[in-house]
Amino acid sequence: MDLKIYNTLTRKKEEFKPLNPPFVGLYVCGPTVYGDAHLGHARPGITFDVLYRYLKYAGYKVRYVRNITDVGHLENDADEGEDKIAKKARLEQLEPMEVVFHYVRLYHKNMDELNVLRPNIEPQASGHILEQIEMIKKILDAGYAYEVNGSVYFDVKKYAEKYNYGKLSGRKIDDLLSTTRDLDGQSEKKNSFDFALWKKASPTHIMRWPSPWSDGFPGWHLECSVMSTKYLGEVFDIHGGGMDLLFPHHECEIAQSTAAQGKESVRYWMHNNLITINGQKMGKSLGNFITLDELFSGNHKALEQAYNPMTVRFFILQAHYRGTLDFSNEALKAAEKGFKRLMRFKNQMRRCLGR
Ligand SMILES: [Zn+2]
Repeated sequence: MDLKIYNTLTRKKEEFKPLNPPFVGLYVCGPTVYGDAHLGHARPGITFDVLYRYLKYAGYKVRYVRNITDVGHLENDADEGEDKIAKKARLEQLEPMEVVFHYVRLYHKNMDELNVLRPNIEPQASGHILEQIEMIKKILDAGYAYEVNGSVYFDVKKYAEKYNYGKLSGRKIDDLLSTTRDLDGQSEKKNSFDFALWKKASPTHIMRWPSPWSDGFPGWHLECSVMSTKYLGEVFDIHGGGMDLLFPHHECEIAQSTAAQGKESVRYWMHNNLITINGQKMGKSLGNFITLDELFSGNHKALEQAYNPMTVRFFILQAHYRGTLDFSNEALKAAEKGFKRLMRFKNQMRRCLGR
């Protein structure tokens, strides 16, 4: 069966040819589990669920890996701020693993409601610290990382001398130099666009593991390079995620894998576009942040009614996954009508066919 995939890396639609047919390796970046699942989680969940189902329908044996980020995702992309899960644990007076499991369960419940199939493997970053330390060693040995005060950073400039940093996102290292200069001087990094592979934990930081460099924790981008290649091989077929992850997360993943193994891991990069709400980006500060539980119960001031999870799934699938999708009560109600019509038609057909 012919399948064409728009590859973000080449910016072209390409015929999909798996590396080792009939097997297909699919990796998708999963949630950082420190809060309720929301509309923003629904789109990648549903988009890659359709891809997964289609690949299986086409006869492939798919290994679908979607990670759970439970350590190392700091509050801002410049490797600064508190760990999102440690912060939630501190505020709620819980163990970090209590926070993780509470939100993993909620995420699973919401994805089940949306009829999203579970992946074959759902690895957690905190369960793969040893493998992450091994990859850091490889990157250090290859000369693309440096240690400062117990932390290890990826040397982007050094990497860019040999490889193309920015090939996925289209960013140029010179532009990064001028836009990220502000932080210079206050940081241990050689350049502000370098990123953490390992961070030394402060004395009060509770999520910490021993390593050759310090008691600390891995950088956020590392887990995906490590867990994708652990379960799918050094080179695998498809890597998916939201467009918001394209830079820096996926760009850094390419750099890490290439630095560690001398070649890239991913053959097809796929990115779903984001959901806006009444034309605005969704954000807690804007008061338009809607969790999936709120959406399904109607319990949010921006909602005129409750929406069935299947209505939400239908609404998301009405738009092309790479196009923007604007959420509004009007659009959801129209999707509800359309979905009911489709189901009525399906039932009539069944009756006609005597099934
Ligand atoms: Zn990821």
